[in-house]
Amino acid sequence: TPLAEPPYLKGLNPPQREAVLTTEGPVLMLAGAGTGKTAALTARLAHLLYTRRAWPSEILAVTFTNKAAREMKERVGRLVGDAVEGMPWLGTFHAIGAKMLRRHAELVGLQSNFTILDTDDQLRLLKQLIVAADLDEKRFPARALAGLIDEWKNKGLTPADIDAGESERYANGRGGELYEQYQARLKAVNACDFGDLLLHTLTVLRTHRDVLEQYQNRFKYIMVDEYQDTNSVQYLWLRLLAQARRNIACVGDDDQSIYSWRGAQVENILRFEKDFPGAAVIKLEQNYRSTPHILGAAGGVIANNSGRLGKQLWTELDVGEKVRVVGVWDGPEEARRVGDEIDSCRRAGKSLDDVAILVRASHQTREFEDRFIAIGMPYKIVGGFRFYERAEIRDALAYLRVVNQPADDLAFERIVNVPKRGLGDKALAKLHQLARRTGAPLTHAAARILDTDELTPQARRALGNLVGDIARWRDMARELPHPELARQLLDESGYTAMWQAEKSAEAAGRLENLSELVRAMEEYESLGAFLEHVSLVMDKEGAAQDPQVTIMTIHAAKGLEFDTVFLAGWEEGLFPSQRALDEGGTRSLEEERRLAYVAITRARRLAVILHAANRRIYGQWTSSIPSRFVNELPAEHIDSETTMSGGASLWQANWSERADPFADVGRGTGRGPGWQRAAGTLDSGKPGGDWKSRTFSAAPTRIVESRAPSVSIGNK
Ligand code: ATP
Ligand code: MG
Repeated sequence: TPLAEPPYLKGLNPPQREAVLTTEGPVLMLAGAGTGKTAALTARLAHLLYTRRAWPSEILAVTFTNKAAREMKERVGRLVGDAVEGMPWLGTFHAIGAKMLRRHAELVGLQSNFTILDTDDQLRLLKQLIVAADLDEKRFPARALAGLIDEWKNKGLTPADIDAGESERYANGRGGELYEQYQARLKAVNACDFGDLLLHTLTVLRTHRDVLEQYQNRFKYIMVDEYQDTNSVQYLWLRLLAQARRNIACVGDDDQSIYSWRGAQVENILRFEKDFPGAAVIKLEQNYRSTPHILGAAGGVIANNSGRLGKQLWTELDVGEKVRVVGVWDGPEEARRVGDEIDSCRRAGKSLDDVAILVRASHQTREFEDRFIAIGMPYKIVGGFRFYERAEIRDALAYLRVVNQPADDLAFERIVNVPKRGLGDKALAKLHQLARRTGAPLTHAAARILDTDELTPQARRALGNLVGDIARWRDMARELPHPELARQLLDESGYTAMWQAEKSAEAAGRLENLSELVRAMEEYESLGAFLEHVSLVMDKEGAAQDPQVTIMTIHAAKGLEFDTVFLAGWEEGLFPSQRALDEGGTRSLEEERRLAYVAITRARRLAVILHAANRRIYGQWTSSIPSRFVNELPAEHIDSETTMSGGASLWQANWSERADPFADVGRGTGRGPGWQRAAGTLDSGKPGGDWKSRTFSAAPTRIVESRAPSVSIGNK
C-alpha cells in the first residue's frame, strides 16, 4: 500500500488527479472557468518536484502574468517547501524569453547586457528611421509602424519573412525595409524590444541545433496556463522546446480567449492535438468557484457564441443569490450605488479584499476612484495605474498646471517636448541656465531666450510657438469654461493628435482617458479647484496591507476570483465596446462576449451587473441602452431592479415639461445622435437636476428567453 497521500493530491477530483499523475506525454486540459485548471497545474508542479521526477530548474512553467507566477510559486512552496526556491523557469513568456536571450545574445548579434527598450525609445528610433527614409512622419506615423512590427513579431516573422503583401501595409510597400533597418539599428545599440524577447529566442532555437537540444534536454516538463491566449511566436517556441520529450501540459478554456487583439490564437488549442498526437485530453466539469446562479448566468451568455468546443459545468455549491442586474440613471449614480453596496458589505463584516469592480475600459475606473476617495473607501487599481497617475493624464494635467500657474517648472518640463516639437536636450539645458541665472521660472526664461540667438532657428521657432500658445491659453482660461479650455488646449497643442496617430487599442484607451479627464473637470467649479482635487487624490495611498476593494479591467482579472464582483457599465457601446460594434461581423463581438463570460465567472458568491441610462461620452450626454449581454442572461438566474423607468418615455415627458431645447431623447442608439447638450454648459453634471429625487416604480429590464445554455446546472 502506498504511504500516506502527498498533501497536494488532497481534495482533487479524479480528472484533476489524472492531470497531475499523467506526467509523461502531452496533456491538454480543456475546461471552463473555475474548474480548478490552475489548481491542478500547480499540484502537478508540486508532484513533479515531490516525486523527484525533475529538479526545479528542469521544469518550464509559463503563466500569463507575473502575479500569477508569484502565486504559483507560493502555492507550490506551501505544498513542497523549499524545493520551489530555485524555480528559475517559472514566469511569463517575456520573463523567460529575456532570461534565455541573455544567455545566447551573441547568436543574434547582441551582447548579453542588452537593453530592453520601452515604447518611447522604440518610437524615437523608428522616427529617426522614417525621417532618414525620406518619408513624411505625419502621413506614416511611427506609431503605426511600431504596431505593425509588433504584430509581425507576434506572428514569429523576421524581416526576411515579410513579403511584398505584408510590406504594403506601411508607407506604400516600405514596411519590410524599415523593419529590417529597425532591427539593424537595435543591434547597433545593443538593444531589443519586447517582441524580440521571444522572436530572438525563437531564431536562436531554430538556427542553433546545439542550443535547442540543450534546452530540450533541460526541460523535462513543460507547463502552460491560460493556453488559449498564446500567440503564434509563443506557440512555435513551445513546440520546438517540447518536441523531443513531448512532456508538455497545457491548460486553457476556449471560451476565455480574450487577447486576439494582441495576436493570440485560440486555434492553438486545436493545433495542439495535431502537433502532439496521442495527447491525453482531460476535461474538468465540476466548478468549485461559483454558485449555480452565477454559472447559469455566464453559461447563458456564452451560449450565444458559435463554434465553441462546448463544455458541461456543474457545481455542488448552494444555489446562492441570483445575479443582480441593476439599472441606474447615470455614471455618478453607478459609482454611488456600488460604493453604498460595498459599504454595507463592509459593515456586515465582509473583507474588502473579497470585493472587486471589473470594468471593460480603463477610463471607467475614474468615477469609482473619485467616489471612493470622497467616502474614504480604500481601493487599489490592479494591472494598471490609478486614473490620475496614467501617463496621458499626467501630461494633460501638466498642460493645465502650466496654464494655471506660470511658475510650475515641473509641469513645464514635462510638456515642453510632448508631443515632440524639436526641443532637444541642448535647448532645454540653455533654458535651464537662463532660468537659474535670472531666478525666473522656466516659462519666463522661455519667453526671454527667444530674444537671444542662443537657440537654433528650429528650436527657437518651436519654443516661440509654445510660449505663444501658453499665453493664449491663459487668456482663454479667463473666458472659457475650464473643460472647454482643456479640450481646446489638448487639440491645439497637438497632444490629442499624437495619440490619434497611433491606431492601437492602447492609444484608443488613452484617448478615452483624456475624454474622461475633461468629463471629470465638469464636476468642479474652476480649473484651480479641479487641480486641487487632483493633488489631494494623488496624495492618498492607502497602506497596502489594509483590506482594499480591487478595481481592474476584465482583461486583468483573468484567472482571478472574488467573493463579490461588481460589473459596471454593461451598455451597448461600452460593453460590447463601440469598436467591436463599428467593426461589425461576429468576430469581435464574440470576443466581447467571451469577456463577459470571464467577467461573470470571476465571482464566487455574488455578481452585480450595472448599466446606466445615460453616459457622458466625449463630453456629451448620450442615452444608452443595456448591453445585449444583459438581455442574454437567462431570466431564471437573475434579479433585475432599476432605480428609474427603463423606457425613454418618462425622460421625454420630463424634458418637454421643462420646455428644454434638448428634448429629443435618443432611443437606444448607444452613442447615437442621442440627446446632447452643448459641451461645457452643464452645471450639476446631471441632466434635469431635480429628476434624481423622484422615485419610480421599478420596471424590470427587458429579458429575452435564454437560448439553450450549454451549461447544465445540477447538484450531482
Ligand atoms: P479560470 O478558468 O478562471 O482560470 P481555473 O479553472 O484555473 O479557473 P482555479 O482558479 O484553479 O480554476 O480554481 C477555482 C477555485 O476552485 C479555486 O478557489 C480553487 O482553490 C478551487 N478548487 C480547485 N480545485 C478544487 C477541488 N478539487 N476541491 C475544492 N476546491 C477546488
Ligand atoms: Mg486558472
